[in-house]
Amino acid sequence: MGMSRFRINFDRLSRGARDGHAGAADSAAAPGMPRWPYLCGLAAATVILFFVGLETWSSREAELLSAVAIFMLVIGLLLRRNERFNRTLAAERRHLHTAVNNIPQGLVVYDASARIVICNQQYLDMFGLSPDVAKPGCTMQRLIAHRQETGSFDGDVEVFCAAIIRSVSLGKATRQLTEAPGGRAIEIVNQPLKGGGWVATIEDITDRTRAEQRIAHLAHYDALTDLPNRVLFREKLEQALRAIRPGKRLAVLYIDIDEFKGVNDALGHAVGDELLKAVAERLRLCLGEADVAARLGGDEFAVIQAAAESELETTRLVEAIHAAIRQPIECTGHLITTDASIGVAVASDGSVNPDQLLKNADLALYGAKGDGRRTYRFFEPGMDARAKARRMLEMELRRAITDGGFEINYQPIVNLRDGGIGGCEALLRWRHPQRGMISPADFIPVAEETGLINELGQFVLDTACMEAAKWPGHVRIAVNVSPIQFRSQTLALNVAGALAASGLAPSRLELEITEAVLMRDDEVALATLHQLRALGVRIALDDFGTGYSSLSYLQRFPFDKIKIDRSFIKGIAEEGASSAIVQSVVNIAAASNMTTTAEGVEQEWQREMLRELGCTEMQGFLFSPAVAAAEIRRMLRERGRDVSAA
Ligand code: GH3
Ligand code: MG
Repeated sequence: MGMSRFRINFDRLSRGARDGHAGAADSAAAPGMPRWPYLCGLAAATVILFFVGLETWSSREAELLSAVAIFMLVIGLLLRRNERFNRTLAAERRHLHTAVNNIPQGLVVYDASARIVICNQQYLDMFGLSPDVAKPGCTMQRLIAHRQETGSFDGDVEVFCAAIIRSVSLGKATRQLTEAPGGRAIEIVNQPLKGGGWVATIEDITDRTRAEQRIAHLAHYDALTDLPNRVLFREKLEQALRAIRPGKRLAVLYIDIDEFKGVNDALGHAVGDELLKAVAERLRLCLGEADVAARLGGDEFAVIQAAAESELETTRLVEAIHAAIRQPIECTGHLITTDASIGVAVASDGSVNPDQLLKNADLALYGAKGDGRRTYRFFEPGMDARAKARRMLEMELRRAITDGGFEINYQPIVNLRDGGIGGCEALLRWRHPQRGMISPADFIPVAEETGLINELGQFVLDTACMEAAKWPGHVRIAVNVSPIQFRSQTLALNVAGALAASGLAPSRLELEITEAVLMRDDEVALATLHQLRALGVRIALDDFGTGYSSLSYLQRFPFDKIKIDRSFIKGIAEEGASSAIVQSVVNIAAASNMTTTAEGVEQEWQREMLRELGCTEMQGFLFSPAVAAAEIRRMLRERGRDVSAA
């Protein structure tokens, strides 16, 4: 508050307001009845008398009377001036009273002897003071003692007053923070005045302080979860690194929710937000007192384990966090099952560079994501090189998509009853200009991570449908569809487009999906499956037996086919459960009008066993690996003759 607003002639006011505070200024200054008209009247009467008695009075009497008349006139005029002055003063006091009682701050004006000249109502209200004490004339010591009695001052009255009086007498302003009843924060500024004395302004800064604290909090904490943000996390890491004790280890965990975008897409951002809050809460519960959890942004969290004894202790914390995140979470009426990938980097002394440690944790997280998610990895030196290679692969993948570096091979699927080719699976190949053929196992995860799988998937779909349209009418084409493609929500439209462009009958197209599509309680994916079914396209469940293989997936959607993973076919003749499992799958499939295809058949005896177990089809090297389009056409022509001969 600037002092200029209260530039008042305090000398004049202090004379007038000595016996009352600002509220009493009016009454103290109330003018009496004007006296100057009487004196002027008397002077006029004297002048009339002078003229009436002029002939009878001596010249001396006349002179005296004139002098009296002039004197009375002068006194009368002086009194008139004084009345005007008093009225102006009273008006000034009224204005001052209005002003000081209408400012939001408390105000006390002290004179040079540290007595109150004026104080406003706000000041009394702020500290709950009595107007009988806090009024003009009251000494500062008495005022502060009154504040002590009423509970808004708990220091030494004499020492406190002496310090302020000394300071203002040296012309120095002082500023104190104090607490008023009700816990409100009060700021008092004592500003010396030129002619002696000082003005104290008293401001309730509780709301301002709270707003400042809130801003400071927001600068260091995440608004959604109230966990420390990246800035504070970094500060805490530096502190924790400095505080590592000999024999202890500090671990940084980077935690990223797996496929979190799917939750946002399927259930909306509000549910996504609730999930993030729930994860934050669970993280808090997993940590020790010295540990720190933070939200770095998006679905990425971080933890500092401040003083682990061993790698085992860190592993235990990681596993506890994983278990906590994996517990189904109830979010606004949805029961969501989620998972996370975790990267861990460890520092065994404070010399480790915090940036390097964070980079290592990030690389380890990247490694965990690359290894299929839902897992954790400790940082290893080779990870940096692998991450670089992966980034390189991503760049080359993008280039290959635009330059046409991909081709499709077709692996025949053979009917176990008559040996004829019932269909072919389209398999994507990447012919790298320098490195030759790159396996889909290497580039599909990168394509999925970067979203490039949508473009690649479309390419496979379009090309395979075009190709199959040239084959005999009974031969189907099977195309793999990634769970990522199911998220785009335009999959059914794209499939319909590929069928229309190629003229292929929908019943000849078989889409192979893995259970990952159905793993989340994903209604969008299920709706897309039904749209595809409505187009007349067949749906096969791929790689059955490798993941959770929950039979509930078979209940959730009526598949046309189950593809039994090659791992069961390998050990089918050995002692063990493989053949029993294959038998059960065949039985379940038959009961629901599904066919079965055994993958990875390499030996004649495997084919025999599969035929005996009642499996419908097989594919594998025993018959043919995936071959180029021209080769498959030749094969179809020849096998077509074989089958008719059989
Ligand atoms: P990944 O398995 O590779 O981790 O894939 P992801 O789907 O979890 O995606 P990623 O971790 O790469 O990206 C996180 C996504 O989280 C990106 C963004 O759409 C979403 N997101 C970021 N901030 C928020 C937020 O505050 N609230 C919600 N609901 N979503 C957010
Ligand atoms: Mg994520």
